[in-house]
Amino acid sequence: MIEDEMISKGVKIGLETHISLPTNSKLFCPCSNIAKEQEEPNTRVCPVCMGHPGTKPHLNRNAVDIAIKMALVFNCKILQNSFFSRKTYFYPDMSKNFQITQYEIPLCEKGKAVIKTGEKSKEIKIRRIHIEEDPAKIVYQKESTYLDYNRCGSPLIEVVTEPDFATPKEARIYLQNLMALLEYLGLLRGGDETTTIKSDANISLAGGNRVEVKNIGGIREVEKALKYEFLRQKNMLAKSIIPARETRGWMDKLGISKSMRSKEFEEDYGYIFEPDLPYICIDNKQIEAQRNILPELPEEKAKRFRKQYGLNEKTVERLVRYRDLADLFEYLCERKIDAGVASSWTAGPILKTLNWNNTRFSLLSIDKKEIYICLNNYINKKHSDFICEKIIQKMVEEAKNKRTASYDTIVKKYRFFSSLIDVDAAIKEVISKNKKIFDEYRGGKEKALNFLVGMVMKETKGAANPQEIKEKINRL
Ligand SMILES: [Zn+2]
Repeated sequence: MIEDEMISKGVKIGLETHISLPTNSKLFCPCSNIAKEQEEPNTRVCPVCMGHPGTKPHLNRNAVDIAIKMALVFNCKILQNSFFSRKTYFYPDMSKNFQITQYEIPLCEKGKAVIKTGEKSKEIKIRRIHIEEDPAKIVYQKESTYLDYNRCGSPLIEVVTEPDFATPKEARIYLQNLMALLEYLGLLRGGDETTTIKSDANISLAGGNRVEVKNIGGIREVEKALKYEFLRQKNMLAKSIIPARETRGWMDKLGISKSMRSKEFEEDYGYIFEPDLPYICIDNKQIEAQRNILPELPEEKAKRFRKQYGLNEKTVERLVRYRDLADLFEYLCERKIDAGVASSWTAGPILKTLNWNNTRFSLLSIDKKEIYICLNNYINKKHSDFICEKIIQKMVEEAKNKRTASYDTIVKKYRFFSSLIDVDAAIKEVISKNKKIFDEYRGGKEKALNFLVGMVMKETKGAANPQEIKEKINRL
């Protein structure tokens, strides 16, 4: 197992994860922080985020409040006085040639995150959480390079861990938990993990140097990049070559890391205090105000679900990973669907279908009531579990394609006739009203069958399957 091998080789992994915050305006100016679909480049800009000389930044307090919430979730110490610094570097993605970030004193420090790998729990130390601005986007095209400053100045929170992960799997679990927390705190916009979080991962093996892999989008790529780096460094060490201390880029399409530059030391950035911004002063009142509006978080929810609904560990873990699914589960329970049935469907076929379609329940316009109707019909034996799952699959597919996905629409459109008993009853009813025609059919008049099928279809409002009606009448 590669995981065991990593532990024996003394792998140490640390993560620096940048989280885009869904504030309305940018971090230091009133420009909109809400990207529209297919917007024109350089349309959400002003002299402040473009860094024109003489302009002054003003801090967006909402970003500070979000950082406080994150600090509370990770049990960090919140520093009452922190400040911004200029990180100086020469690159076109920051036209003022420095990025406003926090360096010397961050907003919060010394927290912890607990991850569960199988039966075991492990504590990962959070070194610091700070606020900074996002640089612009550089677009490379054939022979030209373009700059789009729409993103420039958007607020980011950076969560830095100590190198406490022993395997890429642990790093993945930590990031999955982080994404769950962001959803619980209402900090996801659009729900796409690759645009919400970007990580720099550092990894070293015993006897080697610390190598940083920059700018890895999403969660799966972090795990892939770390596995790749482990093998690369292990093979070097096996040939008695010490891996250089350097920064590498992750080429996700190729699945390899590539040397970018030898690692700068922090002093190379020439950090200086940002003179245009005052200290960030946080008092207890502000901290308590944020604490009071924290929602029930995954761990607490899991505890409550175990106690209140008597669910097993595995099901609870799956249910609380996504807040929208946990909410759906509780909605079904409130409507008197048995907790066992509600949880096995929510954490089973529903979750599976959403994953298969690469979407989330909260992103689809499916009313929870429609899922309730479907499951209720399953409980009342109007559908087999097979058909019930098919209906849910169609609901998700239709909703993803922005089509009506109500239970009734799906059942009619895809002819999931609602009940075998209903079809039988409808046939009986039609035949009793059309005895003569039924006798004609029995006498060999094939056309009569089509008439009878049509009448049954009418009786079941088109929800029945004509082929099945034919077979059923045949058997009479
Ligand atoms: Zn601006």
